[in-house]
Order: sequence, then structure tokens, then C-alpha cells
Amino acid sequence: MAVAKKTRYVDVSNPSLSVQCPNCGLRTQRFLDHCRNDGYKLWPSSEMASAAFKAWRDADPRRAEASRYDLELPAEGADVTIDYAARAHQLGIHLFPNSNYPFIICVGALFLALAAIPFDGSVRIAMLVIGGLIFLYGVVGWVLVEDVRMFPSASPSTDGEVHH
Ligand SMILES: [Zn+2]
Repeated sequence: MAVAKKTRYVDVSNPSLSVQCPNCGLRTQRFLDHCRNDGYKLWPSSEMASAAFKAWRDADPRRAEASRYDLELPAEGADVTIDYAARAHQLGIHLFPNSNYPFIICVGALFLALAAIPFDGSVRIAMLVIGGLIFLYGVVGWVLVEDVRMFPSASPSTDGEVHH
């Protein structure tokens, strides 16, 4: 009963967040209990103004982001998300895939660099082998595996699902 009484006063079909104050005639927040210009009491209580605001907000999903301290609804932000991979593909630009392999390549390069230090011969050979293997693993993984997965060849593949 009390809740119905509280929300009865709000016209949810009116999309405005602001209202003309009946006392001073200036625009003010519709769901604050006092006019921000002259303090004229617009709502019997702050709780009632808040309940009215919630009823108004829940009436339309586009009002979900609204604040009762604003005079206008927030402007709907344009979707600025860009799929750079799709865009590059469209323009024929080759992008290297996002990958952890460059780190592996760097680790391999580190061992190769260590092999250049004049240690004992067998240590240098061990470094060379370890570094070479890690380096090759990284290059093969990045360029041959991930890159091919990202840019499959134009020929029609046979692994496509067949729907009956
Ligand atoms: Zn006023």
C-alpha cells in the first residue's frame, strides 16, 4: 500500500529528468526533493523522490544509466570497438597474431647470446643447442602454427561441418 502510494505520483511516460520549478520557474532535477535553485520542496521527502526515480528508471531500459542528479539522460555512447584483425584482413594487411611465442623466441635468443661468451667449449655448445632449439620452437610456433591458424589459406577446407 505504501509503495503504491509513493510511486503513484510519478509519470513514467515522461522521459525528462528535469522539471520546471513551480516556485522559481528554473529548470531543476526532477527527482531531487528540493529545487537546486531556490530550495523549493518538490517532493514530500527524499525517500519518495528516490522511489519515484527508481520507478521512472525501471520503466525503460534506456534509463538504466541515468542519475537523478543529472538534468538530462546520458548520451548514448557510440560503439567504437574496432576489430583490427578483421579490418587488416579486409585491407590485405598482414598482422602477426597476438602470441606468447615472441617471448619464447627471446629466451632462445638469450641462450644464443650466452653461447657467444667465450666459456668452456662444451658449455658454449650446450648453450647453442638449447638456445637454437628454443628459438626454432618459438619461430615455428609463431610463424607456422599461429599465423596459419589466423590466416587460413583461401582454398576451401574439408573440415567444415556438414548440416543435414
Ligand atoms: Zn525553484
